[in-house]
Amino acid sequence: MLRFIKFCSLGLLFLVALVLVNALTHNPENEESYNKTTFEINEDRAITNLSNSIKFKTISNQNRTEESLQEFERFIDWLKESYKLVHQNTSLQIFNDTLLFKWKGSNPHLKPILVTGHYDVVPVIPGTEDNWMEPPYSGAIDSEYVWGRGALDDKSGVIGILEAVSFLMESGFEPARTIYLSFGHDEEIGGVNGAAEVARYLSESNVQLEWSLDEGSFLLGGFIPGVDKLVAAINVAEKGSVTLQVVGKAKGGHSSMPTRSSAVGHLSKALVKLDENRMPGGLDGLSLAMFDEMSKHMPFVYKIAFANRWLFGGIIDSYLSQVPATNAMLRTTTAPTMLSASVKTNVLPIEATALVNFRIHPQNSVEDVFDHVRGLVENENVEVRALSYSGRPASQVSSWESRGYKVIESSVKEIFGDVIVAPGLMIAGSDTRHYGKVADNSYRFNPFPLSNEEFAGFHGTNERIKKKDFLDGIRAYIRIIEKGSSS
Ligand SMILES: [Zn+2]
Repeated sequence: MLRFIKFCSLGLLFLVALVLVNALTHNPENEESYNKTTFEINEDRAITNLSNSIKFKTISNQNRTEESLQEFERFIDWLKESYKLVHQNTSLQIFNDTLLFKWKGSNPHLKPILVTGHYDVVPVIPGTEDNWMEPPYSGAIDSEYVWGRGALDDKSGVIGILEAVSFLMESGFEPARTIYLSFGHDEEIGGVNGAAEVARYLSESNVQLEWSLDEGSFLLGGFIPGVDKLVAAINVAEKGSVTLQVVGKAKGGHSSMPTRSSAVGHLSKALVKLDENRMPGGLDGLSLAMFDEMSKHMPFVYKIAFANRWLFGGIIDSYLSQVPATNAMLRTTTAPTMLSASVKTNVLPIEATALVNFRIHPQNSVEDVFDHVRGLVENENVEVRALSYSGRPASQVSSWESRGYKVIESSVKEIFGDVIVAPGLMIAGSDTRHYGKVADNSYRFNPFPLSNEEFAGFHGTNERIKKKDFLDGIRAYIRIIEKGSSS
């Protein structure tokens, strides 16, 4: 008995030691030291141009009026005036109102790169205008911020890229790789007339890009528990989406004599089943790479868990699955959004319908979602149908070992210093769903620092960007384009 207790104690001691050693060695890899770089840019011009760009109401509504179309034309004319050097040194093609600039490189054997953003913006929700501290299309500049719709999404991207390219041209820089710049006019409504057309043109011209960089994540503060460093998640993939109709069926009749078998009852049971049986997911592939890198910067107690996933994997998965933002990184999400049944209070419905939206993780296909839902809920009383349009699969997952990724990573570190860079997954969509088809690797990242509070302005109220952050973002774009096109 004594021997058994001794044996167990030794085993436990060994286990504790192993867990601790793993946690103690769970550190960021010996990071190359990056020399901080900066560029003397024309700060006043950049700020003024961002402010002026916001004044154009380039709003993407589903149906465009003649007046709003003119605003897009006016914006394009204004760009011509404001970025003369860029227009001189590039060739420009316009696809509907999306612009594609080509800055020819000196080495035709190297694949081109694409740096892109969009200048259309989402509308301000009617009735919320007065909640803005500065009018949404004023482009107001105060001591700290530039204000207005598009300050984050994504006129800061478009103007940031144009300022960076202007700087390089003014400095006499000559790229070895050809650089394409594209600025979309309809990203917020799917990009089908803009980015999709550009991608089709590039494909038909046999242009295959080495990599592309589009909007995506930012340098986020206060993102990881216990870590005050900025986190730059360079999104290497984006989720897909499909909406299914789940239909409960019954005979119907008068509500004064309801049957036990009702369409609403069948639908309710199906929805509860879907709610209780989420699609499988967990720390794997991209999500593992992302959380593993971030956990190396977390307080010790978190490191103990992440460095010992063989022991704590289940706990980590269930913890991350409880938080909506991290749950969305781990799996295809399920969200019933619209319900309908009878047209009258005293009529039992023959069909009760729920629309359920799924955001598809790169580990799943559209078919996987169908199979999961059918397997779970379909029977003689419940049917699963696709909406008339088919779903959109998740994107390819780009490499986080590639040259393009390393260029973005090192540039961000050179400009912003000690920040955490990790591959990430984009939950929303971007124009890169189109460009991905003509690029070996696609990245989605805006090199602008952003606090949680500022993030709320994204598609929301009081959208604004710190002047300092915008200017540093331009410096990051300069470095990314300079290095990315050099060899
Ligand atoms: Zn956007």
